[in-house]
Order: sequence, then C-alpha cells, then structure tokens
Amino acid sequence: MAHQRGAGFEDAWEIMDGPDALRSLYPRIAEDLEDILPILDRLPFRINSHLLKLIQDPQDPIGLQVIPSDKELDTSFKDLDPLREESYSPVENLTHRYPDRVLFLVSNECAAYCRFCNRRRKVGRPHVVTEHSIREGLRYIRANPGIREVLLSGGDPFMLSDQRLEKLLSSLRDIPHVEVIRIGTRVPSYLPQRITPNLAAMLKRFQPLFINIHFNHPKELTLEAQMSLGILADAGIPLGSQTVLLKGINDSAGILKELFLKLLRCRVRPYYLFQADMVAGTRHFWTHPLKGVEIIKALYGTISGLAIPHLAIDLPEGGGKIILAPEYIREITSEAIRVENFEGRSIKLTTHWEDT
Ligand SMILES: *Cc1c(COP(=O)(O)O)cnc(C)c1O
Repeated sequence: MAHQRGAGFEDAWEIMDGPDALRSLYPRIAEDLEDILPILDRLPFRINSHLLKLIQDPQDPIGLQVIPSDKELDTSFKDLDPLREESYSPVENLTHRYPDRVLFLVSNECAAYCRFCNRRRKVGRPHVVTEHSIREGLRYIRANPGIREVLLSGGDPFMLSDQRLEKLLSSLRDIPHVEVIRIGTRVPSYLPQRITPNLAAMLKRFQPLFINIHFNHPKELTLEAQMSLGILADAGIPLGSQTVLLKGINDSAGILKELFLKLLRCRVRPYYLFQADMVAGTRHFWTHPLKGVEIIKALYGTISGLAIPHLAIDLPEGGGKIILAPEYIREITSEAIRVENFEGRSIKLTTHWEDT
C-alpha cells in the first residue's frame, strides 16, 4: 500500500506501509511473511523513498533497524513497558518522572519504525495521540508550575504538519513556567526532506528550543541528512543526538567514533548513548551492559570530549535513567586517591592538604 503524503508539507514523499509493502519490497523476507505478520500487529512496518534508496541490503546497518525479523517473535521476555512510563503518567501520553520536566507524546507516527522501539505499545497505532490527549497534556503542564522543561516525543513530532506543530509550540510558550522546549526526533535520519527552511524559521520563534536527534550509524548521515542538520543549525537551534547501542549494528568503538565525529562536524553535540531498553521482542539487539562502558572508555582521551556522549541506561522496573561511566579511581586510602589516566598510567592524588 503506497500513498503520497503532502497535505500541509512542502514536499511530498512516498511512505509505504504494512505487509503489502514488505512483500513487494523484500520478497526474500516475505517468504516467511505468514510467520512475521503477528509482529506487524505489535509494531507496523513502514518505509519511505529516502530509506528505500539507502537500504541496499536488508542486512545492512540501516536495513537491520527498520526491516522486521522473525527474531522479534522471541517470547522469552514479555515486558512491553519496562520503563513504566504508564505508571508515571498522570494524564494519557504524558510521563512525569523527574521533578522539573515531562515527556509529552504528541504524535502517533514516525517516518519509519525502528524494530527496537521501546514505545511499541503505542507507536504506529492510530488514535493513541488525539486532540483530547494533547489538550489534557497542556492542561497538566499549565497546572504544574514545577515543570521547567517539556520534551516532545511520540512517535515523531516532526510527522505533524508545520501548522499543528506551530499551534502546539505556541500553546507551550504561552505557559510562563515552561522555560525550555525539547523535541526528540528521528526525522533528520529517516526522512531528512521533512526539514525545510520554513519549518526551521517557524521553530526559531520558540527559543529556547533544543532538538535531540536519534542517529545510530554513520551511514545515516547522508548528504540529505547533513543538509537537514545544516538548516536547523543555521536557524540557531541547538542540536544534540541520541544513539541506541545495538548489537551487530553499532556496538563497536570504531563505528561509534565515526558517528560521533561526523555528528560534531554537522554541529550536533552527542548527548546520550543508550543501552537498548529491555522491551519484548527486541532481545536480539541487546548488548552486555558493560559493552557501552568499554566503548566509552576507548573514546575518552582519543577524541574530543565534545564528541563523547554520556552513556545512559534507562533502568527496568521504572528505575529511571542513570549514567554509567568508566571507573578511573583505583584505590582510596586515608592519605591519597590513586587514579589511572586514559593511557592506563597510575597517578596519586594526595589528600594531605585537607589537614593544613
Ligand atoms: C529521558 C527522559 C527525560 C529527559 O531526561 P534528561 O536526562 O533530561 O535527558 C524526561 N522524562 C522522561 C520520562 C524520560 O524518560
């Protein structure tokens, strides 16, 4: 099923959805389609003209992120909401876990669906985000003056038309205690054509507004993606990135070093490297929790600190985010702390000055 989307957007692009699209585009995978269909009920398949050009092989690092696999049928792990976003949700589609900021889901859709999506219980389904839920979310934010920052996510907020997004942003800006707006998006990677000078000019009116962009592999930084980042950076919008550590896709220091340095050249400051969330059907993407620490440790001291994100893990059982960092302290005694530098050299930090 292919359809053109254009209403409200400057450029139309081809978005293809569902089993028919999968069957026609990837016949080899579709051989097992009957087995895979239940997966698509959980998280739909979607692709678009940009990704179609990019995915030369379903096994390439971008293909592996968007094309369903029978590994998603694994039932050894059943949790669909390990972050317990629903338990921390005072109104539908809004999660208030940390005192001064909320996560606000404002779109059902993405430009394509990541097979490791941690919000597959909601994303890609119609009628999850409604006019009503947006109104209720805004009402909650308005009523809670402790909320300093609103993080718009979804789905992807940039799948809304410019007009709808503008309306939402002005409603948020009308709330005096909302200091900062943050948008989480994957559009510059998956559908860079969506980022237009008109969109950037509109966003610019709602500063301070930060955009955090999901990029997982250096191949995603195509010329088109780089241009979309240029448009946003030229509008003065601070850009950060989020990366999910994915087994067999980017779980090596070499690949991530290339990604982070490339992002920095595009004026994107790497913000978080995430341990993949332990959501049902995504087990084949998980890495050992120490893998990320090892990778970050290999980067410290070898590339610019500007290019190195925090390694974060969003804990199961709704524990929230924590930062994992390599340990440089080797020994603590009453007189000194012995540390190791990035080259492995041992250095003593005296604490004697405390006595004087
Ligand atoms: C990740 C997250 C945030 C933002 O956390 P930061 O550490 O500020 O990036 C806010 N709310 C929820 C529910 C989150 O999961």
